[in-house]
Amino acid sequence: MAGKSFNPFEMAQAQFDKVADILDLDTATRDLLRNPMREYHFSIPVHMDDGSMKVFRGFRVQHNDARGPGKGGIRFHPQETIDTVRALSMWMTWKCAVVDIPLGGGKGGVICDPHNLSAREQEQICRGWIRQLSKVVGPLVDVPAPDVMTSAQHMLWMLDEFEWIHGGHYPGLITGKPVGMGGSLGRTEATGYGVVFTIREALKEMGIKPEETTAGFQGFGNVSQYAIELYQKIGGKVISVSCWDQKDQTSYTFVKKDGIDLKALLDITDRFGGIDKDKARDIGYEVLPGDAWIEQEVDILIPSALENQITADNVDKISKRVRLIAEGANGPTTPEADKVIIERGIFMIPDFLANAGGVTCSYFEQVQSNMNYYWEKDEVLGKLDVKMTAAFLAVSELAQQRKLFMRDAAYVISVSRVAQACTARGWV
Ligand code: NAD
Repeated sequence: MAGKSFNPFEMAQAQFDKVADILDLDTATRDLLRNPMREYHFSIPVHMDDGSMKVFRGFRVQHNDARGPGKGGIRFHPQETIDTVRALSMWMTWKCAVVDIPLGGGKGGVICDPHNLSAREQEQICRGWIRQLSKVVGPLVDVPAPDVMTSAQHMLWMLDEFEWIHGGHYPGLITGKPVGMGGSLGRTEATGYGVVFTIREALKEMGIKPEETTAGFQGFGNVSQYAIELYQKIGGKVISVSCWDQKDQTSYTFVKKDGIDLKALLDITDRFGGIDKDKARDIGYEVLPGDAWIEQEVDILIPSALENQITADNVDKISKRVRLIAEGANGPTTPEADKVIIERGIFMIPDFLANAGGVTCSYFEQVQSNMNYYWEKDEVLGKLDVKMTAAFLAVSELAQQRKLFMRDAAYVISVSRVAQACTARGWV
């Protein structure tokens, strides 16, 4: 039902159960994979700036590390729950497996709101988080990264604390570090470019030239901006983008039928990906309500903002012209909407394949950090293209062979790779 609120972990388990049935997995493998292998729950006491003491709750969930060290971000969020962290950790296992990088799945979090914390207080939370986990994370064990409301600065504080504890330099502990302090060139572009590498391959299979296509985006942040840049470079025309307007507390869709000018739009966009609507009108954009993004007459729709955006309520509004959906965001389409998309025969590039460029580049960062040797940007992006293209081709080949929806095919590949690794190690 549209609008129904899901427990994310139950949803992740239900998705897994469906694939386990397709793969006919045995009971032990199901038991192992539908739950995290390890969870850490702990308290982080912090001396606040006003002299008081406050205790924050922290988590790290390691879903599965049969294919390599755990990988996944750390969220700072006031509504963080252990079930969200569990679900995200499981999804990381599948995402790393679908792009065939030798990493498992992990995720972490702290229940806190960085808006109400000073930089010093946030630093104390970061250092406290690592102190609690210093023996169970590490370059060969579990490799954290930034996520919602955590940044390169937070990663650097965590790395510094880890290095004080262990007495040495371990830049492969964590990814998302600033460039020059162990970060990788190309990380900023990686997710958006990765989305377009998969779109380019899908269009090839569909026998459509990119220069004959138009696209509409939901969102105008990191993922969309770089996806637009590369999509335009390969000849595509972007007709519409949408974003959240902080001042009006609503979203808007910006339409230009003869194609948006990325640079001109970036000039009037804030650092959160919000476009100034008055200035946009001045330079010739039609400004429509936020939900109009889905009804645009385009060939490709690229939801790159939030989860739960294509639902049973609005899926019928997708224009007849749309032939391809590439999910830049995590979880933008509900299972009910998927059913309609399948019936209509729209080609779908599912989230954990389409947006895996980010984690793939994080893996490259970890490799460079472990070697203490950093690659040029072109080398990073070239390797990213190879990985994303290979992942796309493996999923679409399986989808065609077994007549599966692309999302199911991607899951089948990931889950079977992880299950095989567990069996090979003698775990099940
Ligand atoms: P961002 O914060 O840079 O940008 C988000 C954009 O979405 C902004 O333009 C914002 O205005 C817009 N937005 C917010 N609410 C909206 C609404 N209701 N309607 C329309 N637009 C709205 O975020 P991002 O890094 O671009 O990430 C976008 C999505 O991609 C998220 O689901 C994220 O989890 C996923 N993702 C990001 C990465 C990455 O490396 N950045 C990697 C994998 C997945």
